[in-house]
Amino acid sequence: MAHEQALCWIDDELVPAAQARISVLDHGLLYGDGVFEGIRFYKRRCFRLGAHLQRLHHSARAIGLQLPFTLAQMADHIRATVDAAAFEDGYLRVVVTRGVGSLGLDPRRCSRPGYFVLADTLAMVDQAAREQGARVIIASTRRLALDGLDPRIKSLNYLNHILARMEANLAGADEAILLNQAGRVTEGSADNLFIVRDGQLLTPPVIDGALAGITRAVMLELAQQAGIPAREQSLAPYDLYTADELFLTGTGAELIPVREVDGRPLPACPGPVFHRLQALYAEAIAANTDV
Ligand code: PLP
Repeated sequence: MAHEQALCWIDDELVPAAQARISVLDHGLLYGDGVFEGIRFYKRRCFRLGAHLQRLHHSARAIGLQLPFTLAQMADHIRATVDAAAFEDGYLRVVVTRGVGSLGLDPRRCSRPGYFVLADTLAMVDQAAREQGARVIIASTRRLALDGLDPRIKSLNYLNHILARMEANLAGADEAILLNQAGRVTEGSADNLFIVRDGQLLTPPVIDGALAGITRAVMLELAQQAGIPAREQSLAPYDLYTADELFLTGTGAELIPVREVDGRPLPACPGPVFHRLQALYAEAIAANTDV
């Protein structure tokens, strides 16, 4: 059931999310054919809205989908939704689908994209995991290959991640880490990953199979400002098992320290680098001047 305060911009109007309707013939629903963004707002200001809209645009271009509005128009819809929300801090989902079409997956059956903006609140992990650290597993489900469905496309089809997340649930863990076909670390089911080793911050390059996370990019910026050496590097499970610190980042997740990988405890959780970046992240949010 939809959160009772959730709000939706659809068909040029704002309605309670529970009343918003899309067609059963929408190819977003039938085939996962579409793209989306997840954006947080704090004190009614979106965090990194421009970067999110740009990524939506890139995801849409990558699947040959024409966005139904300009990015400026979408920013207006988002602003109207945030202004009308019953909560000051929340999470937005901007969804563009291939639209309504007859059965059969050919996108040419859809004449007009579907589109809505949904505002709700979101807590991805419980407070205990946030404070004491999450327990993660390395999933046996591999991240989809670049030549199958490029992980940089934020598409409506999240089954790859969901199957990994189910493995974490079965293992009683908080999150699953996916490897690519070559056994390199890619990302979590809904977040990017960083390790700290010998004072250096390392994250897998997105070409190894991760979403180009916006929180990830903010972390790299903040690390640079703070004089923490940071770079992209391919990682294997060994690097996670032997890291000094490990944490996850994402718009929904924000920053989550990890205390254990596949039953192997990390020596510091939350560690000093995490603490420093978390404080800088909070400052960046407080200083946010996005609309
Ligand atoms: N990876 C995946 C698969 C995600 O779904 C997300 C979250 O949306 C992320 C990484 C983190 O990306 P961002 O920081 O842009 O939210």
